[in-house]
Amino acid sequence: MDFALFCTRVDILLLLLLLIALCSPCKFIQSPIHFGPLNFHQTTNTSSLDFGRIVFDSPSAVLRPQSPKEISLLLASLSASSSFNKVTVAARGAGHSIHGQAQALDGIVIEMDSLPSAISIHRGGESGSSYADVSGGALWIELLRESLKFGLAPRSWTDYLYLSVGGTLSNAGISGQTFKHGPQISNVLQLDVVTGKGEQVTCSPTESSELFFAALGGLGQFGIITRARILLQDAPQKVKWVRAFYDDFDTFTQDQELLVSMPDAVDYVEGFIVLNEHSLHSSSLAFPSHLRFTPEFHSEGSYRVYYCIEFAIHDHQLESTDVERVVTQISRKMSHVPSHLYSVEVSYFDFLDRVRMEETVLRSRALWEVPHPWLNMFVPKSGIGEFKDLLLDNISPADFEGLLLIYPLLRDKWDANSSAVLPDGGGRSEEQVMYIVGVLRSANPATCAAHCLQDLLRRHRRVAQAATDPRIGAKQYLARHPSQGQWQDHFGRHWDRFVARKALFDPLSILAPGQGIFPPTYASSS
Ligand code: FAD
Repeated sequence: MDFALFCTRVDILLLLLLLIALCSPCKFIQSPIHFGPLNFHQTTNTSSLDFGRIVFDSPSAVLRPQSPKEISLLLASLSASSSFNKVTVAARGAGHSIHGQAQALDGIVIEMDSLPSAISIHRGGESGSSYADVSGGALWIELLRESLKFGLAPRSWTDYLYLSVGGTLSNAGISGQTFKHGPQISNVLQLDVVTGKGEQVTCSPTESSELFFAALGGLGQFGIITRARILLQDAPQKVKWVRAFYDDFDTFTQDQELLVSMPDAVDYVEGFIVLNEHSLHSSSLAFPSHLRFTPEFHSEGSYRVYYCIEFAIHDHQLESTDVERVVTQISRKMSHVPSHLYSVEVSYFDFLDRVRMEETVLRSRALWEVPHPWLNMFVPKSGIGEFKDLLLDNISPADFEGLLLIYPLLRDKWDANSSAVLPDGGGRSEEQVMYIVGVLRSANPATCAAHCLQDLLRRHRRVAQAATDPRIGAKQYLARHPSQGQWQDHFGRHWDRFVARKALFDPLSILAPGQGIFPPTYASSS
């Protein structure tokens, strides 16, 4: 495009954006408006919807870009004039946030799935590591499928793969591999980012590194990730998948910590609390083994819960490694309930895609598209016992619907330069082990209507508040705090760095309004 034509288009775009700014509550775009390369759509159902089904903020317009340039044009135009200070923009990946984080009330939602999802795989050799270049809007399942064609796969995952690359990299991306390889944000070599000012920047740990680390775990505040270079490793053919049951919390966590201390042997460690029959059954849908574990939840007049460790070992099907023998050696060191260790071998793909099976079953029972009042917290090792008691006091284990995940992570696998927030540990920051606890519950409207949902959310707030007290020292993951003061507490000593990065890369606070961290005029008025 020549410069004169570009300027004309920018002028028209400015006019359009002014309309959005002035007329934002009117939702005036009734049919797609084509502006040169930019196609603005009328508000769609998905642009004001997420997995949480708790917040439904409608934008004024939706952009479905065909290239990063379009995103750059939009953001550069918004930044060009202070008249548009109030127009906000949210990238929407797969929309699997819980509290409207990818929404933009009366602003513009950019649906990232419209970017071409071309994935290119580069096999390393002596000259370097293998990696994939992938669009920020691509899903992890797409990257898995493509990389497996080359016998490769990313090292670090989330449990569920129908999440976007840009979405999980804006948070952290954690799963059972995190103790070994760090979160997904520790496995990125390079990013293309369009900043809030519309600049297209390629960044890495050595090139524009401030933007690189800001964007990783940056909650979409500094720029829109349009491409990520993800580290790959040789993919195993199969996975030995093991589950062991416990009736004592301390023994359960000791064994989890034992497993994460053996990264040469173990490839994946997670675990969950068995709260009731339902949680035992629903968490085992994808685990293809007959469990003979039949716990007594009511015992001597009180309610008992149980625990399950899940670990896995990659099987590259080499003659030199006998995976069965490795499991036997490891399990001899564990202290699970005798004879309640179960193991199965599944394909690597099926193992990574295991939550899809749960999704399919829940969808068939109309239990997937329901509200999800989730709470996720990082808890220092020293506070995990107290946190577990606090949680069980607040959730009514007998009628809990969903999953209660709990597993250890190792602090030194996280890069302190990234924007992700971990517990300070209340002066115990030398503690290497911390836990991620996920209260992943569903609120079936048939049994839990609006007031019940509000009650669950209130309880979660109570737990989160008590757990962030320095005695436990926890931090929320995937948080949505209601005020800037609470965000400031959340970031703690990293708040000043976060604000400085915002001033540098998105000074008008255009981006990711759904996180509720910076009001649109915050940067310009400060
Ligand atoms: P969205 O909800 O679309 O966006 C999240 C935030 O990122 C928003 O602020 C948005 O504006 C911003 N954003 C989106 N795309 C971009 C981009 N390209 N550039 C910059 N900012 C962007 N998390 C884990 O860590 N581990 C898990 O195992 C895990 N399992 C999950 C299972 C399910 C069923 C669900 C619903 C969620 C799970 N999550 C997990 C949480 C998930 O990682 C986050 O909700 C993540 O944000 C989802 O990605 P998304 O593409 O849906 O993001």
